[in-house]
Amino acid sequence: MKTHPTPPHACPTCSHLLHRQQGLTGQQPPKRGDFTVCDGCGQILRFTEGLGVRAAGDHEVAMLSPDFRATLLTVRAHFQQQQGTATNAEKNKRRN
Ligand SMILES: [Zn+2]
Repeated sequence: MKTHPTPPHACPTCSHLLHRQQGLTGQQPPKRGDFTVCDGCGQILRFTEGLGVRAAGDHEVAMLSPDFRATLLTVRAHFQQQQGTATNAEKNKRRN
């Protein structure tokens, strides 16, 4: 997968700073309207003008092709699992 730098924008859900993007379905740089997933929280996002990001609506995700939707949801689950792991590690740190 090719990594494309993007202008830094904070995720609207978790404020994680997004500054690069990896193509899920191709090698093209992202453009307005493309979907992406926050690697901080797993929020499905869409690029806006100037490659900012906004949270994608459930109806937008529902309208995607089944294959692409499955890919997005798999990536989201991966990042959410990572986040859960990090959260648990933090909890364990506090416990000790
Ligand atoms: Zn996020």
